[in-house]
Amino acid sequence: MLKIGILALQGAVREHIRQIEELGCEAISVKSVEDLKDINGLVLPGGESTTMRKLLDRYGLLEPIRALADKGIPMFGTCAGLILLAKEIVGYDTPHLGLMEVVVERNSFGRQVDSFEVELSIHGIGEDIPAVFIRAPHIVDAGENVEILAKHEERIVLAREGQFLGCSFHPELTEDSRIMKYFIQMVRENTTVLSH
Ligand code: GLN
Repeated sequence: MLKIGILALQGAVREHIRQIEELGCEAISVKSVEDLKDINGLVLPGGESTTMRKLLDRYGLLEPIRALADKGIPMFGTCAGLILLAKEIVGYDTPHLGLMEVVVERNSFGRQVDSFEVELSIHGIGEDIPAVFIRAPHIVDAGENVEILAKHEERIVLAREGQFLGCSFHPELTEDSRIMKYFIQMVRENTTVLSH
């Protein structure tokens, strides 16, 4: 059975666990370096990226997660998780994990209190996919190997670069698990490659 870790320092963790289990995989809350052992994929949830960064430093998780990425382990960042993954953040000198070839801008769909839901058509995943945006970032610019999967208001909100999937919104807050299913497929394909 595939084991998917969810970074569980802060933020929307339980909802991801529910979707992962419903799709027939094992979900593991990651709170320490030991929890990263044996996972086949990692979800970086939404929350507050600056808080998560502090906790990543406090628990010594930054480098171990980068090492996991070096091994090719697929990673899925939603909202604040996308900010953690990005190589560049508008207005900041340094990134957090700095793994995915995208530039992101924080809080780019309105003011602090703003949240909204729309339905998106997502390349290779499906139509009418509900997307909940909560003080969401968007992808301002993407490297040439980044595949743009969805846009909202002309802004990139879902993209993939090889092992990395980055999403502006919260797919886990809806009953529609097609995006998680897509990520699990990425994990499955990667695991198949590793075991040959
Ligand atoms: N605004 C948050 C940040 O910049 C992200 C919000 C979210 O994850 N829902 O970290």
